Amino acid sequence: MFQTDLLAGKRILVTGGGTGLGAAMARRFAELGAGLVLTSRRPDVLEKTANEIREATGASVQVLRCDVRDPAAVEDMVEQAWAQGPLDILVNNAAANFIAQTEHLSARAADAILASTLHGTLYCTLECGKRWIANGRRGMALGILSTSTITGRAFTVPSAMAKSAHLAMIRSLAVEWGPKGIRMVGIAPGPFPTPGAWGQLRPAGRDKDNLRNPMGRVGEHIELTNLASYLVSDHASYINGEMITIDGGAVLRSSGAEDLIDWTEEQWAALRQQRGGKA
Ligand code: NAP
Repeated sequence: MFQTDLLAGKRILVTGGGTGLGAAMARRFAELGAGLVLTSRRPDVLEKTANEIREATGASVQVLRCDVRDPAAVEDMVEQAWAQGPLDILVNNAAANFIAQTEHLSARAADAILASTLHGTLYCTLECGKRWIANGRRGMALGILSTSTITGRAFTVPSAMAKSAHLAMIRSLAVEWGPKGIRMVGIAPGPFPTPGAWGQLRPAGRDKDNLRNPMGRVGEHIELTNLASYLVSDHASYINGEMITIDGGAVLRSSGAEDLIDWTEEQWAALRQQRGGKA
């Protein structure tokens, strides 16, 4: 089914599309014929990824700087994207996260995670949804969630809360916006190495072999990007309000944070010091 025209004619906005899984999904969508809009806070990172995708696939890629924590900036970003042509698909991928002992989290640190991962996702969804509904267009939003929506997750509590709320949004809007032609779907990825989120969650000193994955390995980006391509495509047109887990079965065995329960106070203090005294 992964023909080069699978996503032909689709215009896809990917938040956090300059790095990691966002960039990998964007590239795969472009290989399958989609046009792209990439957004995040760092235009230089976005431009580099956009150029690589343009060169590799010939796809049209629009780059827009936006901090998704700011609702006015999100409105402006979506307006600029729409000015170049209507969007068909939104991929809510942008997120922030780091491990910390929850009792050491400042309100500011917690808010930074909730604002990027939860509020930003809601703002982007509202701006796209309003336009789809006002123009009588079909639309679809894919959320990049986490298996913490199933297990909760120690030491990344604001992220686990934000992802669970994102899933609640997907399930709620699947019903409310389904009759208006808008489909909502989520992916819960297990461990997929990326320099960003992955690095933040596995600082020096954390046992790299804590995964105990039933498949004996981490995920490959192509496994996730093919799933995302299928879910956003018209082949998945009857899948609505669902979350698909892609983790090799890891969540059935472990929530993914058990090794941190054994960390000493000294290890946590050293990690806080590395971050300049912050949680
Ligand atoms: P990543 O490279 O750090 O991706 C996060 C992206 O979000 C970055 O491109 C970042 O770009 C953007 N971002 C963060 N805050 C933002 C803000 N306020 N406004 C706009 N953009 C913002 O890490 P990743 O591993 O690819 O993660 C991508 C998604 O997959 C996340 O939702 C993550 O929770 C989820 N996930 C990943 C894994 C994994 O194993 N990798 C597992 C489960 C879930 P800027 O810094 O330029 O803004």
